[in-house]
Amino acid sequence: MKIIDTHSHIYAEEFDADIDATIARAKAVGVEKILLPNIDVASVDRLHNLADTHKGFCIPMMGLHPTSVGADWKTQLEEIHNQFLQRQYIAVGEIGIDLYWDKTYAKEQELVFEEQLRWSIEYDLPVAIHSRDAIAECVACVRNVGAEKLRGVFHSFGGSVEELQDILSLQNFLLGINGVVTFKNSTLPVVLRQTDLSHIIIETDAPYLAPVPYRGKRNEPSYTALVASKLAEMYEVSQDEVGQITTSNAIRLFAIN
Ligand SMILES: [Zn+2]
Repeated sequence: MKIIDTHSHIYAEEFDADIDATIARAKAVGVEKILLPNIDVASVDRLHNLADTHKGFCIPMMGLHPTSVGADWKTQLEEIHNQFLQRQYIAVGEIGIDLYWDKTYAKEQELVFEEQLRWSIEYDLPVAIHSRDAIAECVACVRNVGAEKLRGVFHSFGGSVEELQDILSLQNFLLGINGVVTFKNSTLPVVLRQTDLSHIIIETDAPYLAPVPYRGKRNEPSYTALVASKLAEMYEVSQDEVGQITTSNAIRLFAIN
């Protein structure tokens, strides 16, 4: 089976002790690429180091995460923008709005998100959107900046049927599905009945959101196989077909060669 883990923070220190074994386990289940979303200025060196060590396999994005938008957001944003002038990235990410943890900088989150959406148009890159309790707000920002000029993914999608339709009405946006779809109490399998595999890409969000039976433990790219297996069961197709369709969706969106 072929799989692309389209959202993985395996440059995080949780993987310092066994990064090579982690990557070997991923390759063993058929993972062909791992896309690395950035968080903020502090994570840039770790991100670049892993991408340089595993060139062509671990591919970096660049962006400022909404939960890192605080008092110093202007300098953070400027530093992140500087990165685009120095090297190539596969996407602008992860960027977005998070109203779950803290609403103090909600207004600034919106500003920072829209600015980074404009960069993605300028550099002709897709975007990886983090949206927590804020799908309507994120969709509004995308429309505001220009939905027809933007393409991307709502990573770790876990919304309602209405939110799903809202995202798909943007035309050029996919749903990033991870271990949450395997959770016993997840409403995702029912919500996803409203769409099909042509709108889905697979991710881990490692080290977070490990699928069953590893729920609560450290997540890693090899567990994408468990997400693929759940999707195969839901859409009544083979696991290979899930791998094939979601991989070609990811290749198209991120222009992976
Ligand atoms: Zn993430």
